[in-house]
Amino acid sequence: MSKLKIAIQKSGRLSEKSLELLKECGIKLSNGDRKLKSIAKNFPIEILFLRDDDIPQYVEQGVSDIGILGENEVWEKDKNVNIVEKLGFASCKLSLAIPKDENYTGVSYFNNKKVATSYPKILKNYFDQNNINAEIEEIGGSVEIAPGIGLANAIFDIVSTGSTLLMNGLKEVELVTKSEAVMISNKNLSEKKQQILNKLLFRIRAVRNSSENKYILLNAPNSAIKQITAILPGMKSPTILPLAENGWSSLHSVVKEDEFWDIIDQLKALGAQGILVVPIEKMVL
Ligand code: ATP
Ligand code: MG
Repeated sequence: MSKLKIAIQKSGRLSEKSLELLKECGIKLSNGDRKLKSIAKNFPIEILFLRDDDIPQYVEQGVSDIGILGENEVWEKDKNVNIVEKLGFASCKLSLAIPKDENYTGVSYFNNKKVATSYPKILKNYFDQNNINAEIEEIGGSVEIAPGIGLANAIFDIVSTGSTLLMNGLKEVELVTKSEAVMISNKNLSEKKQQILNKLLFRIRAVRNSSENKYILLNAPNSAIKQITAILPGMKSPTILPLAENGWSSLHSVVKEDEFWDIIDQLKALGAQGILVVPIEKMVL
């Protein structure tokens, strides 16, 4: 039987989350230790552990059918592959930063400056779009030390909290783009492999929906049910069950976690009591 080959990062920021995602999809790997390959016991996929930088090339060539990596690497490598799904983890910014005492005047600041980065292609596109004429110095890592050692005037790099910039006396001045982990696929998957990919995507979406959504249960006076139903849409409409106490009902529904905090005060104001919010393990729409 044909297997879908999936490339994930061997070690680094994406490895654990990529494995966790597969696990949450109910996929069990045969050998826990990461060699080069691992075969799933209960799903027709084979996992290849690679450097994330190499994944776009392997997927383009069909050595691997699909891969999980940061969008930033996909853009930078610019290979002929499809982005099939955003995965919602490893979110980061790609930003320009300059020494903190410099007076920043806008993007034209970068004219005739030297900028160090590991993402020369993304940066060149950005400078071209903004008609900036800057020199791009490509370096492999530790980009943030470049201004301090006199290699460049500025840097273009991944920023998450900004603490690395701060430690190196830099400040973020332009957010160029945002990135998150994505799944990419080869452009010529066989019918069989496409079917396996569709099954995997179905599971991934169910896992992601469940982590964003919560199951909510609350008690409310019958007189408030109509108004509460209006702010608690749920998947179709809430389930309403009568309580033993006359005039009261229990309402069950599904809410987005971030929306929950917005509506909690409204629910309380309408007389809702005993509000429970519980995690959902899988959610199929
Ligand atoms: P490799 O040795 O496999 O090439 P790497 O050093 O290129 O690894 P990591 O540092 O493990 O890569 O980062 C992998 C991806 O995780 C990045 O390409 C980016 O998409 C994302 N990422 C990197 N740094 C952060 C961060 N601070 N916060 C969130 N996501 C990040
Ligand atoms: Mg890398």
